[in-house]
Order: sequence, then structure tokens, then C-alpha cells
Amino acid sequence: MTNTGMSRVAIVTGAARGIGAGTAVRLAADGHAVAVLDLDENACKDTVERITAAGGRALAVGADVSDADQVARAVDRVADELGPPLVLVNNAGVIRDNLLFKMTDADWDTVIGVHLRGAFLMSRAAQAHMTAAKFGRIVNLSSSSALGNRGQANYSAAKAGLQGFTKTLAIELGPFGVTANAVAPGFIATDMTAATAARMKVDFETFQKGAAEHIPVRRVGTPEDIAHTISFLVSEGAGFVSGQVIYVAGGPLD
Ligand code: NAP
Repeated sequence: MTNTGMSRVAIVTGAARGIGAGTAVRLAADGHAVAVLDLDENACKDTVERITAAGGRALAVGADVSDADQVARAVDRVADELGPPLVLVNNAGVIRDNLLFKMTDADWDTVIGVHLRGAFLMSRAAQAHMTAAKFGRIVNLSSSSALGNRGQANYSAAKAGLQGFTKTLAIELGPFGVTANAVAPGFIATDMTAATAARMKVDFETFQKGAAEHIPVRRVGTPEDIAHTISFLVSEGAGFVSGQVIYVAGGPLD
């Protein structure tokens, strides 16, 4: 374990795979006890095993972040079994890409429901523990798509919405020692971007090479790139960084 600071209880949503799994593993290596939350509790086993094999502490929690009752039960369970969650990473996400004229009501509601309503429900449940402890760290996963992306009217609206949500949490919760920040990744190699490549009928390797050519550092990102930034934002020393959106994209975006 790298254990660079105080040990807290952290919840990472959507942590069965991808960026969430990388973040859960990193926060555990930093010394935190981590609730690995995803839709299916069984799917969390791999991440939990990676953490425990490295000597860390983790708990698999199954919950749909867009369901208020499941969120309340999940956060209560984490508080009972690991302790009050003082770090929350709202990472769970889905895509339902389509051009506006083909986008269905369900495509819109699902994406807004998981990203925006999910982050709202999780943050509302967790803030009770944070404000009581006079310490908390919330990180929301935004995206470079917040700046606009063809075929992602639902997703870009959700990811831009999360930026406003983050800034408001920073204002409301700051007096209680709680910071809120957003990390906005560019292209990260995960199942989500692999699914996009598959939908566009491009081999994933070719898709990544094509993307890398347009990124100043000439490579695509990894879950560890995002986990590193989140590790900083939730650290003890980052208490004066709040309400920020950090693009982690291998170059500037505008
Ligand atoms: P991923 O590999 O698809 O993983 C997302 C995880 O979230 C999956 O395990 C998924 O579970 C889970 N999830 C979906 N809906 C959920 C719900 N309602 N409740 C709980 N968990 C749920 O995605 P990723 O690429 O790691 O992305 C993680 C986050 O970063 C997302 O918010 C995404 O929008 C954001 N992001 C990603 C990129 C990128 O390039 N990859 C770029 C910018 C932002 P199931 O497998 O069961 O669906």
C-alpha cells in the first residue's frame, strides 16, 4: 500500500470495471476502505479481490444509483459494515448514443437518470455522514463530451449538468469541510469506448490509434490516469480545491 494520508471510508460507484475499478484499487492502495458499488454485487468481486489481494479493505455493494431506495440502503450498509463514508466518487455511467432525431425518450431518461439523478441521490445520502464528521470529499465524473459531442445529446447534457451540480455542492457543503470537484476525462480505454468502437464497426485498436493522433500527448488515457487525479482530489491536502472541473485528456480542451 502507498498509504499517503488518513484512512477513510470511500464509495466508488460503477466500480466493477473501467475507471471505477481503477479508482477503487487506487483509493484502497492510498489506505482507504472502499465500497465497490455497482448494479450487480457479483460483478464487483474482481475489484474487491484485486484490493484484498494487495492487502486492502473492500466491500462489494450491489445497487442501482438511479433508485432512491437502493441508494439509501447501500449507503446505510456501507456505514454499518465499513464506517461512515466520507469520500464519494460518482462514476457509474451508461451511454445510449444516437443523433437527436433518432434518440428515444428511454435513451434520454436512462442516461440522465444514471449520471445526474444517480450522482444527486448518492451525494444526498452520503453528505449526512460527511457534514456530521465535518470532513468530506465528493468527486463527480464529467467528460470532455460536456463541451458537446455529436450523437450524445443526452450524455453531454448529463456531463455538463454534473459540472453545475459539482459547483453547487462545493458552495453548499464547503462550510462543513466537504469539497466537491469534477474530473472530466477525454478518451479512456475501457469497455465504454470499446462499445463505441464496436458500434462504429471499427476495431478497438484502430479506434484508439485514431484517437491518439488527435491527443497532444499522443496516447489515449487509462483508468489509472483518472484514478491518479481522483486520488489527489480526495486527499487530505486538497481541502482548498473545490468546485473545480479538471479535464484529464492529454491536452487542453475548449
Ligand atoms: P464502463 O467501463 O462502462 O463502467 C461503468 C460502470 O458503471 C459499469 O460497471 C456499469 O455496470 C456501472 N453502472 C451503470 N449503470 C449503473 C447504475 N445505474 N448503478 C450502478 N452502476 C452502474 O465505463 P467507464 O468508461 O469506466 O466510465 C466511467 C465513468 O467515466 C462514466 O461516468 C463515464 O461516463 C465517464 N467517462 C468515461 C470516458 C471514457 O473514455 N471511457 C470518458 C469520459 C467520461 P454494468 O456493466 O452492469 O452496466
